[in-house]
Amino acid sequence: MQTEFTLAQLTDPDIAASEKILRACVHCGFCTATCPTYLLLGDELDGPRGRIYLLKNMLEQGGPPAPETVTHIDRCLSCLACMTTCPSGVHYMHLVDHGRRHIAAHYRRPWPERQLRRWLGRVLSHPPSLRRALRMARLAKPFAGLLPARLQPALALAPQRIAPPSPVDRPHVFPAAGERRRRVALLPGCAQQVLAPAINEATVRLLNRLGAEVVVAPESGCCGALEHHLGSEAAALARARANIDAWERARLEGGLDAVVANASGCGTMLKDYGFLLRTDAAYADKAALIAGLARDVSEVVAELGLPQLAGGTHRGRRVAYHSACSLQHGQKIEREPKALLAAAGFHVVDVPEGHLCCGSAGTYNLLQPELAARLRERKLANLAATGAAVVAAGNIGCIAQLAGSGQPVVHTVELLDWATGGPRPRELSGGAAPAAETARKEPVQRGR
Ligand code: SF4
Ligand code: SF4
Repeated sequence: MQTEFTLAQLTDPDIAASEKILRACVHCGFCTATCPTYLLLGDELDGPRGRIYLLKNMLEQGGPPAPETVTHIDRCLSCLACMTTCPSGVHYMHLVDHGRRHIAAHYRRPWPERQLRRWLGRVLSHPPSLRRALRMARLAKPFAGLLPARLQPALALAPQRIAPPSPVDRPHVFPAAGERRRRVALLPGCAQQVLAPAINEATVRLLNRLGAEVVVAPESGCCGALEHHLGSEAAALARARANIDAWERARLEGGLDAVVANASGCGTMLKDYGFLLRTDAAYADKAALIAGLARDVSEVVAELGLPQLAGGTHRGRRVAYHSACSLQHGQKIEREPKALLAAAGFHVVDVPEGHLCCGSAGTYNLLQPELAARLRERKLANLAATGAAVVAAGNIGCIAQLAGSGQPVVHTVELLDWATGGPRPRELSGGAAPAAETARKEPVQRGR
């Protein structure tokens, strides 16, 4: 694709990077076929090729974008299915991220939307605030019809049960069981701690059991992805720098073999820290180093290997593996989680239209509720068609989006933990002791 940036514009490193991406696009349109929003809306401007044109024009012209451009870019899920399909290696993720930053800097949204976006960025990435908001949402649910329409999707997603904070999310070193084979830092995250604390608990138990010492480093926390996708770049980069400093200290103290994310949206962000901070002289090298250490939990478990397993009530259970977009398209990890579940004794079945997003996409289900609901329904129908007893996914956003259909949805590590000696996930326990509470009784942590 030809571009018409001026030489002055090209001195901006973001413009220079986007110009390179735009030039790689040959307009072939292959990506359009796998784009969920094009599939739903049938409009070229709601597919990747159309959005690439809109982004090119917006960035070339500079200044405030047309409202129509903002509408089509806002409808993009950042699912990155287009990157998997593209034969020319167009890095759509960096291009649309730049576009979102440009919109945030130059476009004045209506006041209610500005407030909603600001509120989502602040609350979702701060566990105590999210816990408070969910308690209020639970109280407000009976009066949902009286509240503004923009708040309805958030109310609908609020879970019935809000677990107390888990000790595994506080700074600790969790020693390996037996010989230490790896030392890894775990990203404690933000919304996941509140929505499903059992996931970090299962991750720590599983990694410890497989021989990894797990460090939850002081002052590590939210990866910044939520704010990054809302276009709040300064806030997102501040979180990235805080995490990099925290893990750099942990690395200097005792070495680190990996920084582990168990929410694939966060893992994709960690792996991009090097690019995001490439022009920050104080952080560029450290960011590249941490990005190089970033791993999805399934990669680390695959490296460590599962023990030889025999028996167990989980054996032969039919599991539909839902491949989160950020894992399959963002990190190109598709095979490992399924292979691990099969090796652990589950009967893994593929989900039809597995390349399509479930509609979660960070805050998309709150900001674009109608499109998100249509994608959810489509995904639930495909999951139901598998006849699986349980759905496994590697991203909390997908787990929250797909919950409540009658087919339990759990994290892949919860199943692997169960298969290797941990508690049965609460969602599968039919009212038995919650996995999270069982885990809290286990003496797995050592205070610092
Ligand atoms: S990221 Fe997803 S929704 Fe956005 S253009 Fe690409 S395929 Fe379509
Ligand atoms: S598939 Fe790649 S090269 Fe073809 S239009 Fe889409 S982004 Fe451009």
